[in-house]
Amino acid sequence: MASITFTHVKKQYGNARAGVQVIHDLTAQVEDGEFVVIVGPSGCGKSTLLRMVAGLEEISDGTIAIGDKIVNGLEPAERDIAMVFQNYALYPHMSVFDNMAYGLKIAKMPETEIRARVDKVAAILELAPYLDRKPRALSGGQRQRVAMGRAIVRQPKVFLFDEPLSNLDAKLRAHTRLEIQKLHRDLGITSLFVTHDQVEAMTLAQRMIVLNAGVVEQFGTPKEVYQRP
Ligand code: ADP
Ligand code: ADP
Repeated sequence: MASITFTHVKKQYGNARAGVQVIHDLTAQVEDGEFVVIVGPSGCGKSTLLRMVAGLEEISDGTIAIGDKIVNGLEPAERDIAMVFQNYALYPHMSVFDNMAYGLKIAKMPETEIRARVDKVAAILELAPYLDRKPRALSGGQRQRVAMGRAIVRQPKVFLFDEPLSNLDAKLRAHTRLEIQKLHRDLGITSLFVTHDQVEAMTLAQRMIVLNAGVVEQFGTPKEVYQRP
């Protein structure tokens, strides 16, 4: 596990002369093991912020640290992070087990260790009965859990969620939300979760960042944010 420290982070798209500043001098610290939800209007920079932590987008200025390691310039694979998107792509021809094990096999982890990790995560996510199935034989919610499982087996220090529930129907969204809550209770992985859904924010967040036009407007518990005078 690890904290995430943003120090005077700036992001602009395009070049210095014709660029658009999207994140303005953002400084904030997410504590080790904390679940922080990022909310704000469309286009305020939520995805950009997450993608900079992930290494999918360059940091224009300032630093982002995971634990005590500054990650500017590191490849995504070097950052001990895992990311879950709204459009999760599972390998259709592989079983649930193989989908979850894929990254570990690529990393040449011993077979017994892979088995142990996948079994443990499958138990937490209630996927144990489905390990031999192909993704097409699963419900949407189960597939989303496989996508999360695939990320978790790598034992990342930081979990990044980019609106992972927004393609699910209301019932599944509520269910998967509870799964994510349970997952965080069980594993305590430092998490950043982007959403524009207020219910998700209130139920999942230990603290929330309210972003507006690339500036942190508020950073506090849901109670502090929603009960502001
Ligand atoms: P959010 O996730 O809050 O909706 P984004 O981080 O996706 O916001 O986008 C923030 C701003 O940056 C928006 O104005 C968006 O149009 C712009 N933007 C995002 N990605 C790019 C890009 N690759 N090139 C140029 N502008 C971008
Ligand atoms: P979201 O559903 O997260 O709001 P968007 O439709 O804003 O997604 O963006 C989808 C993709 O397009 C992202 O990869 C983003 O970086 C890119 N993008 C967004 N705005 C721009 C832009 N103005 N110029 C170039 N790319 C952009």
